Parts: sequence; structure tokens; C-alpha cells
Amino acid sequence: MGLLRAAAGAALAIALAGCSATDDEGGVTTEMLLNAASDSSEWLTYGRDYSEQRYSPLDQINLESVKDLGLAWHADMDTARGQEATPLVIDGNIYITTAWSKVKAYNATTGEPLWDYDPQVPGETAVKACCDVVNRGLAAFGDKLYLGTLDGRLIALDRKTGAEVWSTVTVDQSKPYTITGAPIVVGGKVIIGNGGAEYGVRGYITAYDAESGEEDWRFYVVPGGPEEEGTEPEYLAKARETWNGEWWKFGGGGTVWDSMAYDPELDLLYIGTGNGSPWNQAYRSPGGGDNLYLSSIVALRPETGEYVWHYQTTPGETWDFTATQHIMLANLDIDGRKRKVLMQAPKNGFFYVIDRETGELISADNYVPQNWATGFDMATGRPIEVPEARYGDTGKPFVSTPGAGGGHSWHPMAFSPSQGLVYIPAIEAAFPYFPETDWKADAHRGFNVGVDQAAGGLPAIESVREATAASTKGALIAWDPVTQTERWRVQYPGPWNGGLLATGGGLVFQGTAAGYVKAYDAADGSEKWSFPAQTGVIAPPITYEIDGEQYVAVMAGWGGIWPLAPGGIVNETSGPVPNISRLLVFKLGGTDTLPDAPPLVRRPLDPPAFTGDPAELTQGTYDYGRYCGTCHGDAVVGSTVLPDLRRSPVLNSAESWQAIVHGGALQQNGMASFADSLSPERIEGIRQYVIFRANQDKELGGIGDQK
Ligand code: CA
Repeated sequence: MGLLRAAAGAALAIALAGCSATDDEGGVTTEMLLNAASDSSEWLTYGRDYSEQRYSPLDQINLESVKDLGLAWHADMDTARGQEATPLVIDGNIYITTAWSKVKAYNATTGEPLWDYDPQVPGETAVKACCDVVNRGLAAFGDKLYLGTLDGRLIALDRKTGAEVWSTVTVDQSKPYTITGAPIVVGGKVIIGNGGAEYGVRGYITAYDAESGEEDWRFYVVPGGPEEEGTEPEYLAKARETWNGEWWKFGGGGTVWDSMAYDPELDLLYIGTGNGSPWNQAYRSPGGGDNLYLSSIVALRPETGEYVWHYQTTPGETWDFTATQHIMLANLDIDGRKRKVLMQAPKNGFFYVIDRETGELISADNYVPQNWATGFDMATGRPIEVPEARYGDTGKPFVSTPGAGGGHSWHPMAFSPSQGLVYIPAIEAAFPYFPETDWKADAHRGFNVGVDQAAGGLPAIESVREATAASTKGALIAWDPVTQTERWRVQYPGPWNGGLLATGGGLVFQGTAAGYVKAYDAADGSEKWSFPAQTGVIAPPITYEIDGEQYVAVMAGWGGIWPLAPGGIVNETSGPVPNISRLLVFKLGGTDTLPDAPPLVRRPLDPPAFTGDPAELTQGTYDYGRYCGTCHGDAVVGSTVLPDLRRSPVLNSAESWQAIVHGGALQQNGMASFADSLSPERIEGIRQYVIFRANQDKELGGIGDQK
């Protein structure tokens, strides 16, 4: 179908249906995706259009009118974990994904529920997921929606009914792969990556025919085992020269768990790749090497999956410095030249402006404080590292800023073309990398990174914890990508604030960790509007227009890795906040209200007496850090999202504890059995450590509680 005919079809559909822009026969077409930026009534694809700018020209809600913004409607979710999804809006309906990879459809004007889809992800899949059982959204094409599920399936749904059309398994489900990211559809192919590099996998993306679900091509990020040498494509043969040792035994990592973007003119698909598996390069690739294509932006031909170029943000990655963060395309005037650029603020703390045609580094500067590099060698495009940063080589701990949480995680940025600014939901936090001695991979369970999570996690000592909390912050940063300077910021007391939306109304919308949805003046960051959401908001808002009214929609629901792992970091405005999962939709003059928030009830801190011995406590401390802390909190200071084990009644019964941790009694909730990794004796050691920590904190008056 030609572009003109598609446009005419879309215009006709709008005329007939009032709010429908899709072609009645073909649904969402390639032409519509290519022109998504000019369709402000809908939100057709993850980042609104292929440039992933998350900028809408809608301006009914603007600097003056935003004071009248009110809740139009809301919908309660049936999951109580982190909600990270970007909704899609098509033909007057809004489509969302929730925790546990569920999908829901509503009338976008009234909130009337249309259908629900539950892929029935097995509960025990949760232990393969580093960062909560989240999902970040759908792709739409034709009459279908595409969903990646936590357990590694790609599923096509009928957009009208929610009925499953096809389903294909995209990962080896015996390995710790998960999918949390949204697929992208380019040229009739639906493309999906995966995650799992904290546990031991080899990263790749796969393209499937959107209509049939047939696999089309697969692109591996890192080289495989020796049996593939000589048979692999040239880009992987080149990568092989940058690796040492037996990385393939543990997968090597480089998972593409989030960001993709597409430039139709250059016909290049951009993917962001993740950290090494394990993190500690001394174990992953002894003797070093760049370890291509970890922590890189890679440009591919979407038709074939052919490699075109790459830029590696962190050569020889060893700090969990993924480059899976939001990739955004824009055209900028730099030094008197129009440049087609790609921009990214990956975890390592530097903001990159890259020529998206060639992969040439145009500029890089740090957008948050950092101490692992002294700058960039612009001749080579490589960071100049501080030698002490390589803890795996020195054998000594290194406290890095940013840390493993990154200067920026998956939370999408936004761009305002009129301001020329990129808005970054930034994190300011350090992480102590304690190299683990005599580390051995565990193919079954646990955080497999070669960094001691008990030593490196949030410390048990209250004064140290408070110092850590005081230096851990979040910010909304307005960044000038041409001059690589900060224009303004909104400082938050805590990290893990929401993704962003910029609008033609001169506003930037953001949810906050402290439980608000806010609108700021895009020019100077002054606050223009605030709505109490009753829960932490981490997902990015979107906007759409139906029958002449502009709406802003956002998923609310506290969760993701930050509340789970270092969940004990609280302060007066960043927590603890409960998880109350909802879809919130706003419009000018909206009069809907939320029911009163239930009080946040936490069980009393009343542990039994510690009865272990010192050796048991030492082993229990290590095992807790490696196997438990990622979900139940560093030093057992839990969040409000998952059980705070210090307060668990199960602590009183060694038998009940064994039934859960060894026997898998709660596997449907996500608490799978650890019997393949941990003996009953070591499981009891973990119980003793939790009891020990609970008593410590009880004596101190309950750290991690309300301050
Ligand atoms: Ca990671």
C-alpha cells in the first residue's frame, strides 16, 4: 500500500469514526508507524514514534491550563508489583501491560474495561528476574498487539478481543532468561530481546514475521562457544578476538532487555546491549579485552539482522554498566553542522551524542557525578579509566559512582524540540564493588556476578546506612545535548523517579518515587501541577487526544529493582511508599477521585532469639546476599513490595522456613525452591542471619521504618 493511499485511508477513517485513525482493513500499517510523530491523537508505539523522543505536540494542557488538570478516570490493577509500562492508544482505546506480563484494554475516554489477557506466567519465573516481575509495554501492527512475557514467550493478540493469535518461545526456558521490554515492529517484523545477565545467559534479539510468528533472523550480541568458531558471521568473529577464557560457559551476557530505535531514512535499527555475565571481568574474560558487544549501541539492518556498526560505551564492562538505556534519535545543529544523532544516558553516567549514520562519537560528558573515568580520548572514542576502578584486577573493593543502579536506568527520557533539551530521570548513587574470591557460577539460582553482594549491598550498620541514604538521590535533569551541560534540575531526595513525557504545552510530566504525578515548566523546571498518586510512580506518562480533549495517562505502582534490592534506603519523602497499582488518566476539568489510601501497615519487628553460631552466621550472611537480597533487600531491610523477612512470622519456625526455601511451598507467588543450590543446613544459616539482623534492628528501634 502506498503512502498516499494509507494517509487517505487514515483520514477517511478519522472522518467516519471521529476518533479512529487506523485503516479499517489493515489496522496499524507500516506507513502509520513511519508517520506516528504527526498523529498526536494516538500513541502507536513505545516511544510514540521510531525516534523515541516521547514528545507530543499536543498543547491543550499547557503552562496556563495545567492547574485545571484533574483525574478523568482510573482503573485498579490485579497485580501489586512494579508497573513500568508505556500504554498504547489506538482507535480510541488504551492498551496496557502490567506486572506478570498481563494485558488490559479500556475505552480511553471513559475507562470502560474492554478485555483482559493473562499469559499465566508460572510464579517461579520470578526468581529468574533480577528486577521485579515487570513489563514495559506492547507493540502494535495490523490488527494485533505483541507482548513479551516474563517467561520468554512472544505472543500476538487480536487487538479487538484480546484473544491469542500466536505464541512462540523466544528463549531457552531452562536458562535464566526473562523478557520485560516492549517489542518493536519494523517492516512487518516484530523484534524482541531478553534479559538475564545477572544470572548467566547469552544476549540476543530475534525478529519474527508479525503475521505468522515464524522466526526470521536472530542476532547474537556476544560470541558463542568454540564450536561456533569459523562458522559465525564476521562481526562475531571480530568480537571473539576481544574475549578470553571460557566466557561461553556462562553466556557472556550482553542482553538487549530494553531500548531499541529505528531510523527509516538510514534503514538502521539501533539496539542497546547489557552488562557482562558475570559482572566481574576477571572471571568472565581473564586477562581483559573489550568483550564486544557488551554495553554497546549496535546498528543493524532490520530486514536481515545484518551488523552495520557499533559504539561501545564501556569497553571491558565490569560494573553492570549496561547500555540498554533509552536510545533517542534527533537532528541537532552542532558546530554549524546539521547532525543526525543518537543520544543515550547509559548507566555509566556519561551522556553520549553519536552520529547515527556512522557510529562516530560526537561528544560525551557526565550527566551525574562519576569517579570511574577521568574523561574521554576523543581520538579513539574510549573512556579513560581510573585504574582502581577495575576491582577484579586489583582484588580490592572500589566504590563507584554511579554504581550498579546506574546514573539512569530503564525510565524513559523525553526531548523537547522547542527547548532543545533532553530530560533525564537520573539517579545519584554509589555502589561498593567487593571482588568475590573463589567465585563459582551457580547455574540454578542466585545473583551470579562475581561481586560479593553481602559486602557490596546496603550495609547493616545504621550510621553507614544513613550516610548512604543521605548521598543517594534522584533528579530530573534538563540536559543540553549540544553543549553537554545541565540547564536546570529538579532535585529529589530519593532515586527511582518515573519516566518522562514532554509536550507542546511547554510541560514535562513525571511521576515520583514519593508518590506524585507532577508537571514542570519545560523551560525552567518550575513545578506547575502535582497529583497525589498514593504510590510510587515509575512508569512514563503518555498523552493523546480524543474528540477535542487532551488526556495524560500513566501507570502507577511502586516496584522494580530499586525498592526490592536497596529497598531499605528511605527518607522523609522517598518512602516507604506502598504499592497501589492503577492506571491514572487525566484531563482538564477531570472530576474523578481516588478512594482514600489504606494506611501502610507493616508487621511488628518481633523476631525470635538468634541461636546460630559464628560460622553459620558468616555463611548465612554470604548466602543471603547472593540468593535473597536482590528481592528481599540488602541487609534484610525489605521494601513494601515484597515481604520484609525481618518481620516474617515464618522466622519462628525452622520447619516452615525449610518448606518454603527448600520445598518451594510458595512457588506460585514467585518464591521458588532453592534446593538445587542450597542445602537445608545453609538454608537454616540464612534464617539465623535474618534473625540476627532483625534483632540488631529491633535494638536500634527498627531501621528502614518510617523516619
Ligand atoms: Ca544488569
